Amino acid sequence: MAHLNGASWLAADKPEDADLIIINSCGFIESAKRESINAVLAWRKLFPDKKLILAGCLAQRYADEIELAEADCLFGNNDLAQITEVASRLTGSAAAGTPVVPGQRPLLSLPGSAYIKISEGCNNRCSFCAIPLIRGPLRSRPIPDIVEECRQLIARGIRELCLIGQDIGSFGKTARDSADSQLPALLEAITRLDGQFWVRLLYIHPDQFPLDILDTISRDKRFLPYFDLPFQHGSTLILRAMNRQGNAESYLSLIRRIRDALPDATLRSTFLLGFPGETSADFHALLDFQAEARLDWVGCFTYSREENTPAYSMKNRVSKRLAAERKALIEERQTPISEERMERFIGRRLDALVEEALDPEEGLYLGRLFCQAPEVDGATVITSNTQLTVGDFVTGKIVARAGIDLDMRV
Ligand code: SF4
Repeated sequence: MAHLNGASWLAADKPEDADLIIINSCGFIESAKRESINAVLAWRKLFPDKKLILAGCLAQRYADEIELAEADCLFGNNDLAQITEVASRLTGSAAAGTPVVPGQRPLLSLPGSAYIKISEGCNNRCSFCAIPLIRGPLRSRPIPDIVEECRQLIARGIRELCLIGQDIGSFGKTARDSADSQLPALLEAITRLDGQFWVRLLYIHPDQFPLDILDTISRDKRFLPYFDLPFQHGSTLILRAMNRQGNAESYLSLIRRIRDALPDATLRSTFLLGFPGETSADFHALLDFQAEARLDWVGCFTYSREENTPAYSMKNRVSKRLAAERKALIEERQTPISEERMERFIGRRLDALVEEALDPEEGLYLGRLFCQAPEVDGATVITSNTQLTVGDFVTGKIVARAGIDLDMRV
């Protein structure tokens, strides 16, 4: 979008007004691929005469194989700057007008929040994962470049900086198993920025957790004690087959270290069910891990068999039905854990980022606390006597819990 804006293209408010529709796709797992293709088919049906580009990871991964007459063009991830040329060629028009806010990247996130990609690609090579095939090996941005982007976003009024990458614990590393993560140095550099903002760290592979960051996070309260650690499993056999190095014991000890250093720490994880060879005993090891870890939030996926990954040819595949049953049981057991974990905030005064005015006349707003990452976790319903600004912080008291969500009174 920044490239297109720079070449004087404007984002249309309504698709009816657009000359060009770009669908950004995901190529990670079967369900996401299906969703991406269905999006192309649906938009083509709605707008038979408009030019349509299928962009993103699906286009990148299957560039040679996709035969999709509904899309006018496939556009991968390798050279995003080329999008302006492709757009002009397809529409037969050089865009007119002046560049829109040159240098500012458009934000698609919720108000007050922005994602900052600090690295691209991954060296971990989990055996089930197609991301290294799509995104390539790990490349990390220079620290001053990232800090400058953070500074500009703060100057634009952004309150929440979400640092993302496939595994940000590996930021700056020269090899998967080297101990030279530059994440602690990046956080230290960000502490030198002025202003009231949150920094949220998203996705740290638990085998690559740089413990030094705990110190920075406890010293500078602007760094949220929130960690998304995709453990994936609790059985050592399955973790090894996944090409992951930890086990339930080492992961529980990491959880303890984080909670000892940061008693408020909120932990999120992802579990993968139905990996080839997952026996009932393996599944029970995961249930035990879940019970012991008492994570605040858990997202579950069933295994998706992806071409060109090592797990593709692994034997003893688990049926989709059994994987789905296991996923459902993990989810069922997680709900009361998440609910109970949220109880600890009741009665406390906390900051929330206001995201939506539900009914400003009645003083009703929707927001998030530090323990609620954008879009994936629960939310906080805020009741206020005074008018609140969407995209800004407010401080209030947590008065109740409703399911996994919280109620705040200002
Ligand atoms: S760490 Fe994440 S992105 Fe990297 S290979 Fe493993 S699952 Fe894929």
